[in-house]
Amino acid sequence: MFAFARSRRNLGYLFALSMGSILIVFAAIAYYLGVEEQLQVFDEELYSTSKSIAANARYRLWAERSHINQDDIPILGNGLSSGSQIVYIRWYNAKKKLVGFSGASPSRRLMIAPGFHTIKINGNQINTNSNKVWLRELTLPVIQNNALIGYLQIAAPLTPLRESVDRIRLFLTLGVPVTLGAIGITGWFLGGLAMQPTRRAYEQLQRFTADASHELRAPVAAVLSNAQVALMPPHDESEQRFRLEKIEEIAKSMSTLISNLLFLARHEGPFEITTFKNINLVELMRSLVDEYQKQAIAKKLDFTFYLPEQPLYLRADADLLRQAVSNLLTNAFKYTPSDGTVKLRLLSRGYRAIIQVEDNGIGIPAEDLPHIFERFYRVDTVRSRQTGGFGLGLAIAQQIIQAHGGQITANSVLDKGSIFEIQLPRVDK
Ligand code: ADP
Repeated sequence: MFAFARSRRNLGYLFALSMGSILIVFAAIAYYLGVEEQLQVFDEELYSTSKSIAANARYRLWAERSHINQDDIPILGNGLSSGSQIVYIRWYNAKKKLVGFSGASPSRRLMIAPGFHTIKINGNQINTNSNKVWLRELTLPVIQNNALIGYLQIAAPLTPLRESVDRIRLFLTLGVPVTLGAIGITGWFLGGLAMQPTRRAYEQLQRFTADASHELRAPVAAVLSNAQVALMPPHDESEQRFRLEKIEEIAKSMSTLISNLLFLARHEGPFEITTFKNINLVELMRSLVDEYQKQAIAKKLDFTFYLPEQPLYLRADADLLRQAVSNLLTNAFKYTPSDGTVKLRLLSRGYRAIIQVEDNGIGIPAEDLPHIFERFYRVDTVRSRQTGGFGLGLAIAQQIIQAHGGQITANSVLDKGSIFEIQLPRVDK
């Protein structure tokens, strides 16, 4: 059980780790794309603002001047229509000399290449309280009649962008650990769910092994005690013979038990479909009837059967199917006293073939009926011991029928008799 807890924990870890890594990668990509997109929107706005400023002929006049006095440099009004405040506007002529500006005082020459740049300036330069301010600056070459007439440089603070990026980051730094926690819990839960069938199979196997060892212990003990008695002096030949016969009998039943156990172990899970062939069920049942008619005479039982005239086809493994029906017939013979009756019927109901085994024997108590298909289940050990059963026959029959896509059911009334019914899917031929 400890191994299961560990496997579950490992599954949970692995799940959380893989899902968590995917989540983090996604969050990083989303963050990057979000920032990119916001910056693009910001840049587009800055660009269209700069375009509209450049289109203003009044400003362009300054740009056309080749020389300008310090006093002539005009101060432009701030607060253009952009969502973000423009903190400065600068005009340079075609020779990259400053000809006009507003806002923070610029260098006299244009030092930077045209295009967008992110820069950091001191807050006091643009009358802000904060120490350092991030700006997005655009330097736009202004062209008129195919000639460069100057450069327009404008800048706006990245503060609103940074605020929204900060919000995204806060959301991610809080959201990612919370989601990771949720993934961990889900992983733990799913791990438990995934382990369930394995755990059930393991428990079943454990129970099966325990039951099998338990079943083998009694006959082994019986063999041992018989052998010890036979070896005890004085050596009596008839006693020894009796003991050896006992040992032989026990060994035979042990051999049946072992082959049944091996059968159950080998045929666990779905059958190899390649062993299935189209078979005529009527023929298969006829050969079984021959065999059981002989036994019925020996046991003084009235054995009647009904088989249809028409062939009835199934996709099945003939040997296995034979064993399943044979287990039902053996039980009916075993649990029906002499002079009782056993009936075998084969019918066709829609697309199903029905096999019924009915007896008027000792019957099964209602409280035991739901359990009789379980491995090692015996209604009462006394009556089964007498008949030498291990409680595996019905489990085997059920396993075979289920592997054929059919089902097996039982009805019984104590002291009145039982009826077992097998339903199997038919094929046309
Ligand atoms: P066993 O080898 O003990 O017969 P089975 O799995 O074949 O094991 O049957 C399980 C139990 O169901 C038996 O112990 C028996 O008590 C009961 N049982 C099965 N078939 C019949 C029947 N036809 N009549 C009465 N009891 C039955």
